[in-house]
Amino acid sequence: MSFGGIEAGGTKWVCGIGDGVGTVLATETFPTTTPEETIARAAQFFRSGVRIDGLGVGSFGPIDVHRASPTWGRITTTPKPGWARTDVVTPLGAALKVPVAFDTDVNAAALAESRWGAAIGLETSCYITVGTGIGGGAIVNGQLLHGLLHPEIGHMRIPHDRSRDPFDGVCPYHGDCFEGLASGEAIRARWGRPGEELAADPMVWELESEYVALGLMNVICAISPQRIVVGGGVPKQPTLLPLVRRRLLGLLSDYFNAPELTRPDAVDTYIVAPGLGDLAGVIGAIELARRAAQDREPRA
Ligand code: ZN
Repeated sequence: MSFGGIEAGGTKWVCGIGDGVGTVLATETFPTTTPEETIARAAQFFRSGVRIDGLGVGSFGPIDVHRASPTWGRITTTPKPGWARTDVVTPLGAALKVPVAFDTDVNAAALAESRWGAAIGLETSCYITVGTGIGGGAIVNGQLLHGLLHPEIGHMRIPHDRSRDPFDGVCPYHGDCFEGLASGEAIRARWGRPGEELAADPMVWELESEYVALGLMNVICAISPQRIVVGGGVPKQPTLLPLVRRRLLGLLSDYFNAPELTRPDAVDTYIVAPGLGDLAGVIGAIELARRAAQDREPRA
């Protein structure tokens, strides 16, 4: 059987087809424009390729992930223009006539990394993306973490020393939340240029690593993951993750009784880049589709 997957991001959509064993046979990436145009383009990709038996969508959020809810399959309160209350699942299901599974983009990536990537074999792990926005997904005791809604790691509050960084933050809801202070969009707004053009400025990365370390510390305190995978465009700056690890150990202050959270050599294998690179989200979305199909098969 073949399954389709979409990593439906706020900046770009990545569509792929696979057989649900951690590989992607074909992918197409295109920018996120209007809902109508973007959804139609994804449907066109899947209609023109190998016939798929199900589709998984890992979407930017916030989204409604509760299957019994009347608004399941929709993006909810996003500030992204035109996308609030967009039903993603219904038009894709109608166009492709296949069942559609739906979760957050970061939960999809967390799932893929735990099956085939940097968090294989771990019962509890997190995937955090630091890109245009910040988000996080988690596998807890082997299950994708949902709850009242779904985790919103990007909107955690982190300490903000305005004497050092007077920037107000870019989150339209909270100003200086984690995403508001440390996302790629925040870097661009604070410094007037995107992170890729600021590689040589150590002040940028000292401050960024401080915020990312504070965010990761909160995640460690709340969920106690066995590993944290940090993806997205911002950590492609090669100095960032080493700075984050060093700063994180300082913040943790030898309180946590684990080598990963006290020893420099062990933290190197605790805060890691994605094993699946930029394909984690789409591979996870394909896996969401495969799992949903498996759940529908009649039990003997
Ligand atoms: Zn926020």
